Amino acid sequence: MRLTVAGAHTRLAAVIGHPVRHSLSPAMHNAAFAELGLDWVYVACEVAPGAVGAAFAGARALGFGGLSVTIPHKAAALEAVDEATDAAHAVGAVNTVVPLVDGRLRGDNTDGAGFLASVAEEGFDPAGRVCVVLGAGGAARAVVHALAGAGAAEVVVVNRTPARASAAAALAGAAGRVGTPGDVTRAHLVVNATPLGLAGSGSAELPVDPELLGEGQLLVDLVPNPAVTPLMKAAQGRGAAVAGGLGMLVHQGALAFELWTGRPAPLEVMRAAAVRALA
Ligand code: NAP
Repeated sequence: MRLTVAGAHTRLAAVIGHPVRHSLSPAMHNAAFAELGLDWVYVACEVAPGAVGAAFAGARALGFGGLSVTIPHKAAALEAVDEATDAAHAVGAVNTVVPLVDGRLRGDNTDGAGFLASVAEEGFDPAGRVCVVLGAGGAARAVVHALAGAGAAEVVVVNRTPARASAAAALAGAAGRVGTPGDVTRAHLVVNATPLGLAGSGSAELPVDPELLGEGQLLVDLVPNPAVTPLMKAAQGRGAAVAGGLGMLVHQGALAFELWTGRPAPLEVMRAAAVRALA
């Protein structure tokens, strides 16, 4: 591995968010640039709500090589890019910005594809399966859209606010519907896309009663920190297979890396860097 030292030729990439100092993306991407010997540097930029357009104007003018977008800017970023991919339009959010040769910015969304890649690593193929998604925010919408695209038989959205559940379920077309926690018992895949379980939240509330989970099911908790959430522990105790949020985080980042650099992402280097940064 070669260490990158920024110089006159260095290309810049960044994540914009608010707050953003907890982000694992700088560790992941800088490790990947170093591994491939690319003269790039990735930083985290705190961008206030309402300032996404200004941030993108700056990135355009400064010739940034790529941007990641995180909470709370993903929806605003869709409005602020010059064009967007079908995935970004469908989900209503941009998590990756790719500068085009003419300097215009294309918004993309790699969250859904990153999620599918992470469940494939667990040996799970959504085709023909019943999937329950807990939550209906940005992450849930990306997952619902991706699961339907991967051929899931049913994509059931369970959420606190019914109107948001309906909007998310609609992203799965005919396979989508709004459900209740009871639907978890017959699911092959259950995805927690709420922040319940996040380290430091001060709440012990679980997104679903673990008694509803059991053998033959895969629970994926998108909460990236802690690596093993209270829901994952409880689900494991009931005999379910479990996976954390790191897989999706690493895969969505790897896809962004490939869009920016045109090079295959060193996935295991990125995963190891994210694990180190989490620790
Ligand atoms: P978001 O847009 O704010 O959506 C949060 C969802 O959780 C909403 O549907 C909300 O319900 C629900 N929710 C929030 N607090 C709740 C509570 N106390 N009880 C019940 N439901 C509650 O957030 P997001 O961007 O989708 O992120 C959700 C989680 O996914 C976060 O933990 C985030 O860290 C994680 N995430 C992980 C990755 C990854 O790569 N691993 C990527 C993106 C996000 P209402 O609709 O009723 O408000």
